[in-house]
Order: sequence, then structure tokens, then C-alpha cells
Amino acid sequence: MGCSNIDHGGPHGRQGKRSVKAPLAKTRFVVQEHHARQRHYDFRLEMAGVLKSWALPKGPSLNPAEKRLAVMVNDHSIEYFDFEGIIPAGQSGAGPVVVWDQGAYELLEGGDPVKALEAGKIVMALHGKILKGGFTLVKMKGRGEKNWLLIKKKDEYSHTSWTLQKALTEQEKSRLQEKMPPCETR
Ligand code: MN
Repeated sequence: MGCSNIDHGGPHGRQGKRSVKAPLAKTRFVVQEHHARQRHYDFRLEMAGVLKSWALPKGPSLNPAEKRLAVMVNDHSIEYFDFEGIIPAGQSGAGPVVVWDQGAYELLEGGDPVKALEAGKIVMALHGKILKGGFTLVKMKGRGEKNWLLIKKKDEYSHTSWTLQKALTEQEKSRLQEKMPPCETR
């Protein structure tokens, strides 16, 4: 419990079937700024009918020298893609969530995001408002199963002196309402 029951169809519902016909139709990513007990950024890639998710303690970077730890967390339902609100006190992840960036992603190596995920290396271009150009999301070796790194590729969008700007301003915070998040898929 602790979430609204929106997606009990699960990843094998109608959306999954539709994606067989058009595998590239929905390849979105989102980064949510999450002010839980520790502020972090949730990076989510839409694939196979769910949002594959990583929590980045320091958030993404456009600086190729800043390899950002990305800890894989549970899959989230597609409904989470647009979630913004204040997760009520007492619930897991209690605190404000705002979308920090979102857009489309496309693989730069291989054609199947699930295979790339299983191989532990996703080389992709992000087409967001903030995150643009090439990125590599790669599983760390010998550091446990859940630890990955998100690394910007050197290209016209990389910056050596980039700093992350918080999305949650006081104005944003006053706009947010208390809201139960959609269920995780497992
Ligand atoms: Mn989170």
C-alpha cells in the first residue's frame, strides 16, 4: 500500500502489446527531483511498459568528468512519468517531487533498450530541455548489482563548468499539492 492503485494492469497489459507493433513509439525519459529525507534525482527510462529507474544522489551532469552514481531502484509504472506533488508524511519517499527534465531518448548503440539494460550498458542520446546529447549509463563492476554510473559524452552539449540548478523553487513548492504517487510495479 502507500500508493494510488492506477496501474494494476502491470507491464503485460495493452500497452505492452502495442509496443510490440511500434517499439520506438514511446521512448521517453524523465528526471524527477525528489526532496525525500535526502534530496536526489530519479532518472527513469521508459522501456517494456515500465519506467526503469535509478536514483542519483547528486543528479545528472553535463560535465563528462563528473561520473554520477545512479543506484537502480524498483521499476515504476508509466503513470509515474508525469508525477509531481508532495508525497504525504509517513509514506515511503515522503516529500516534494517535481519534474526536473523530460523528453525522448534514443539508443546510440544497439536497437533494444532491454538488451542494453541486461548487458549493463545503455549508450543513448537524450532529447530533454536540460539533458541533451550523448550519455552512457553503465553498470559498475564489483560494486554490487545496483550501482551504475551516468556519464555525459563529450559533444556539443557537454560543459566542463556545468552546475545543476534545482527545480524546486519556493514558488514551485507553493504550487504543489499533497498527492499519493502511483504504485510501483513491484
Ligand atoms: Mn525518489
